[in-house]
Amino acid sequence: MKKYAMPILMLVVFETIAITLWLTKGNIFYLFNFSYIGCSIALGMFLFIKEYKYARRIVQLLVGSYMLVYLGLICRENLQIEGFWYYLFTGVFEAATIHYAVAKIFGPLIFGRGWCSYACWTAMVLDFLPYPVPSQPRKKIEWIRYCTFALSLIFVAALFLAHVGNLEKIMFWAFIVGNAAYYVVGIILAYAFKDNRAFCKYICPVTVFLKPMSYFARIRVKCDKEKCVSCGKCKRVCPMDVDVTDNSRNRKNGTECILCMECVRNCPKKAL
Ligand code: SF4
Ligand code: SF4
Ligand code: SF4
Repeated sequence: MKKYAMPILMLVVFETIAITLWLTKGNIFYLFNFSYIGCSIALGMFLFIKEYKYARRIVQLLVGSYMLVYLGLICRENLQIEGFWYYLFTGVFEAATIHYAVAKIFGPLIFGRGWCSYACWTAMVLDFLPYPVPSQPRKKIEWIRYCTFALSLIFVAALFLAHVGNLEKIMFWAFIVGNAAYYVVGIILAYAFKDNRAFCKYICPVTVFLKPMSYFARIRVKCDKEKCVSCGKCKRVCPMDVDVTDNSRNRKNGTECILCMECVRNCPKKAL
């Protein structure tokens, strides 16, 4: 049973969130929502333990498409960063604010950037592109993410300051246009830099939250130095350029790992 501890732990964490929010907010949607996500993640972990090659992709498609299609398009919730600012400014602890608190601000203290591997609907599409592993060194353009972060905040603040009406409708269309822009820019960058995750590394404003919080993550991939033979395979398969054999949290090792488990799957010595 010990090897199933992680999927069970994730199920317990998400069920705790589901039941707490259901009871405190009096809305059964939260029970359904977080139970669905928790079950999808636990299923993926279970399949991973069973060494099923597409375990992560199954979770990513289950959760990512649910969020994009059901929550975003059908329920008309803007779950992008603009939606977070919008609900934050209106003082409503609902939808996007809860989503951000759980998945992108406080959750990463436990599960790091797991969101980026198992739930993000932007990466869900980008991961179909032909460059899962970068072939070039990183560009020094990571500062762009701070610009997109600031722009998202300025956009929503301007709507409030100008007292623009019909904000719910604007936020819904901002979600559609914002997502379309993410996909277009993400695909162009992936082909330009031959790296599916170029958008994540340079543009995504959410990393401004994700990176500092995941620095303290409890769940991390660690290397057993006794077993490691320094073959370098783990680094060659990592989509985020992480040197996972370095157990320190220094620099990108502490904040770039997305827990995709490619290194773990490929380590010939089971050192990770
Ligand atoms: S970095 Fe941004 S776009 Fe990439 S997977 Fe994470 S949240 Fe999604
Ligand atoms: S793949 Fe495994 S054995 Fe090879 S360097 Fe990485 S941790 Fe060490
Ligand atoms: S390959 Fe390993 S080190 Fe790289 S992002 Fe995935 S889990 Fe993290």
